This record gives sequence, structure tokens and C-alpha cells, in this order.
Amino acid sequence: MKRILVTGGAGFVGSHLCERLLNEGNEVICLDNYFTGSKRNIEHLMDHHFFELVRHDVTNPYMIEVDEIYNLACPASPVHYQYNPIKTIKTSVMGAINMLGLAKRVKAKILQASTSEVYGDPKVHPQPESYWGHVNPIGSRSCYDEGKRCAETLFMDYKNQNDVDIKIVRIFNTYGPRMNPQDGRVVSNFIVQALRGEDITVFGDGTQTRSFQYVDDLIEGMIRMMNSEQGFWGPVNIGNPGEFTMVELAKKILQLTNSKSKLVFQPLPQDDPMQRRPDISLAKEKLGGWTPKIQLEEGLLKTIEYFEKVI
Ligand code: NAD
Ligand code: UDP
Repeated sequence: MKRILVTGGAGFVGSHLCERLLNEGNEVICLDNYFTGSKRNIEHLMDHHFFELVRHDVTNPYMIEVDEIYNLACPASPVHYQYNPIKTIKTSVMGAINMLGLAKRVKAKILQASTSEVYGDPKVHPQPESYWGHVNPIGSRSCYDEGKRCAETLFMDYKNQNDVDIKIVRIFNTYGPRMNPQDGRVVSNFIVQALRGEDITVFGDGTQTRSFQYVDDLIEGMIRMMNSEQGFWGPVNIGNPGEFTMVELAKKILQLTNSKSKLVFQPLPQDDPMQRRPDISLAKEKLGGWTPKIQLEEGLLKTIEYFEKVI
């Protein structure tokens, strides 16, 4: 049995990860400050003998004896990470320093939940891990993008300087049950709007693209990465290469929900990337043939079913 710390464990992705790690027979410590996460996401795990909950902010040091750390603590939706940008960058950078310091001290393996945002508004398409990105250092998305880039730097430096056993995954847009209805990201916004019969808010002309991954595929990729061969630290892209415009996504959700909602076009937020699609060759090669199994329509149907229950 391994003892595993999941920071940001009460969030959307973190709650699925805690559940899967418990089901595999591990002891799980879920650490969260509940900024965007919620006890509701993990309430079904609370009676489990090997599950523990800790209210803590990763910008402060934390000590515990563990074998592995998954570092997920950080708001991920633009609406939430832009609410307090200084706190967002502190969470990424100080959170990484505190968790890497812990990993170093107790000799734990540590995985960083990085992001496709490190590629910014990419000029190379699809994005391989070797691409350095095209990122504005002083825009409204910078607190998140640059915070995550700096965290990757810290992970590599702790590996090189202190021999910490690190793993970095670059996560592309992920969706699924337990996203907060107020989260502000596109999949949850469109589904909630469609189910309520409200206007679907498309930003810009809706021709920008994203690649959407169902959460179960992400969790499988993260766990395979944590267990990957020694000496492979990434970064590795984890995403679904299916690429859709926001208008295509909106129309698909209207069709699947049988909704009569109308598309309304609103201004495109600053620095909103025009295109995004992962090159997943490295993940396939290094993570035992990992590949996403759940395509958009199937994943959307599961997510719609969840939102029908909660809203
Ligand atoms: P989320 O907002 O649902 O979860 C983040 C969790 O971190 C929340 O529970 C929040 O309360 C917690 N948190 C925030 N600041 C904290 C702090 N200072 N101390 C302790 N806990 C804190 O978002 P998510 O979609 O579950 O994302 C999880 C991780 O995956 C994030 O690091 C995010 O950057 C990364 N990621 C997610 C996506 C995606 O599409 N979901 C894409 C790329 C990267
Ligand atoms: N978006 C949109 N309507 C919304 C929310 C988002 O058209 O109600 C667009 C947003 O401008 C972006 C894409 O959907 O082009 C994905 O946005 P999200 O916030 O989900 O993720 P990110 O921009 O971080 O990839």
C-alpha cells in the first residue's frame, strides 16, 4: 500500500484522482483550501478508512510522510484564476517550492499537473512537447501560464540539483462530471446554458479551437505517468487530439441536450488562444500505449447526465 498526497484533491480532477487511487488500494491524503474545490466532490470518499482530508493552503509549507505526491492545487478556469492573479501565481510557484521541498525531504516521487497553457497561443500545430510556446508574460492569462511555466522550471531544477524524482504532465482541456456549474469553462458553461434554455455564450466568432479530453482518460494518463520508467520525467502531453471549434462544440451540445437555446456572440477575452491540439506520440510511446478512449460525444453525454442531476 502506498501513501499518496493529492494537493487540490477536492477539485474537479483531484476528486476523480483520489477516488481512483483509493480504489487501487492506496492510502490517500487529500489537501485543499477549497478555493474552487468542494467537500461535496469527495463526500462519497469520506467514510473510506484510508482517506484523509486536510484543509491547507499550498503557499504554506506542509510536512507529512508520503511515497508519492500529485500536485494539482491551482485554480484552472480563467474566471477563477484571474479573480486574484497574485494568489494564482503564488499558488503555482510557492506551491511547487513547498511540495518539491517536501518530496526532497521524504524522498517521495512527485507529479506536477502542468498545462497546455505553457504553449500560450501556439504558432506550431499540433503542439509537441519540444515546442517552447508563445506566451504573453504581462497579460490577463499570465498569472496562470507563467506560474505553470515557472513550476515546470522548478521541477526540472529540483531534479537536476537535488535528484528529486519528478514527473510532469501537460494537461489539455479536460471535462466531465464534478465540474462546478459556475466554473466558467466552456464545456460546463455550454451544457448548463443548454439545459436551462439560456443563450449559449460563444466568445469571439467561435472559430477558435480546443481539444477536449474526458476526465477518465486524463486520470489513466496521470497514473501511468507516475508509474512510468525511472529517468522519464516528461513533460508529456495528456490530451485528446480531436479538435473542435467553439461553434461546433455549441452545436453538438444543443443537439445532445435537445435544447432550443440560441448562440450569442460575445467579445473574445484577451490573449485567448486561437488553436490547440496535443501531439500525443510521446505519451503513446512512454506510457504503455496510452491513448484517449472516450470521444467527445460519449464524454459529453456522461457530463450532461451529471449536470441534469445537479442543476
Ligand atoms: P479545480 O479548480 O476544480 O481544482 C483545483 C483545486 O485546487 C481546487 O480544489 C482548489 O480548491 C484547490 N486549490 C486552489 N488553490 C489552492 C491552494 N493555494 N492551496 C490548496 N488548494 C488549492 O481545477 P481542475 O480542473 O481540477 O484542475 C486541477 C489541476 O489540473 C490544476 O493544477 C490545473 O491547472 C490542472 N489542469 C487542468 C486542466 C483542465 O482542463 N481541467 C487543464 C490543464 C491543467
Ligand atoms: N468560451 C466560450 N464561451 C464560454 C466560455 C469559454 O466561447 O462561455 C471559449 C473561450 O473563449 C476559449 C474556449 O471557449 O476560446 C475554451 O475556454 P476555457 O475557459 O474552457 O479554456 P481555455 O481558454 O483555458 O482553454
